[in-house]
Amino acid sequence: MTARILDGKALGLAIREEVAVDVAKLAAVGIKPGLAVVLVGEDPASQVYVRSKGRACEEAGMYSVTIRLPDTATQDELLATIDKLNADPAIHGMLVQLPLPKRMDSDKVLRRINPLKDVDGFHPENVGKLVTGDPTAFRPATPYGIQQMLIRSGIETNGAHAVIIGRSNIVGKPMANLLIQQGPGGNATVTVCHSRSKDLPSLTRQGDILIVAIGRAEFLTADMVRPGAVVIDVGINRVEDATREKGYRLCGDVEYEPVAAIASAITPVPGGVGPMTIAMLLKNTLQAAELTRAE
Ligand code: NAD
Repeated sequence: MTARILDGKALGLAIREEVAVDVAKLAAVGIKPGLAVVLVGEDPASQVYVRSKGRACEEAGMYSVTIRLPDTATQDELLATIDKLNADPAIHGMLVQLPLPKRMDSDKVLRRINPLKDVDGFHPENVGKLVTGDPTAFRPATPYGIQQMLIRSGIETNGAHAVIIGRSNIVGKPMANLLIQQGPGGNATVTVCHSRSKDLPSLTRQGDILIVAIGRAEFLTADMVRPGAVVIDVGINRVEDATREKGYRLCGDVEYEPVAAIASAITPVPGGVGPMTIAMLLKNTLQAAELTRAE
């Protein structure tokens, strides 16, 4: 079997075009959705993500602002920045780019964001809404994007066994919470594996849908995959590669070629989950702006 490639770039673009249509409708009633991204420090990967989020917003007709705080900024300065954005009517959604410097308390920072502007969906209020199946929850963009990719690619989750590797608050846990909800893209039986799981290959081989989010280059090998499984690779890893101009190449958490040879569908890295994440962030910002119309 050679896997169907799930093209996140094309699917992400389609979602962004749908968002742009709705943004134009809001413009007609005088609302321009605004997203603020707060970045602390100079982490090179974060800089790239923040730039592409800003660009995608503008392309969809949204207002976008990036607030860059120096590496030396205090937590109080960051909290004051969030307070200002909470009070700014031009900003409908905001996110604080993670990871934050280690000296900061990420939980405290994320709790400071007004839950109605929390387009990353990391505030406990939105986490609680997600767990209880409240449709007004902001769903974290990466798992939300994966769920949309499954739905739009015609991959059945209803009754499927989804095995997730990784239990982060950003990917693994919200992914599990989305897949167990009732409704489209839900109704799955979910197993969540992590660094303490015993005999990981015996668990991953049970998966009809395998979602790998651990941040270890080419960790998932073909012997860990049931032939015909759908494999979603969330990882973004830089590995040294002297043949490349930059001296590195990007790869996922999945050993791509051998796994693609036995899977029924697979996401590439780059061009798989990444573009879906950005598309869903825009969708969440639109959702936040629409809330202000309903008020
Ligand atoms: P994280 O570091 O917070 O969590 C990693 C998880 O992997 C942990 O729960 C840990 O238990 C598990 N793990 C680590 N080693 C393991 C092992 N040997 N066996 C089983 N489980 C193991 O990571 P994260 O924030 O969830 O991100 C994971 C990866 O996804 C990273 O490469 C990150 O860059 C990438 N990512 C991509 C996107 C995107 O848009 N494509 C978004 C978020 C994260």
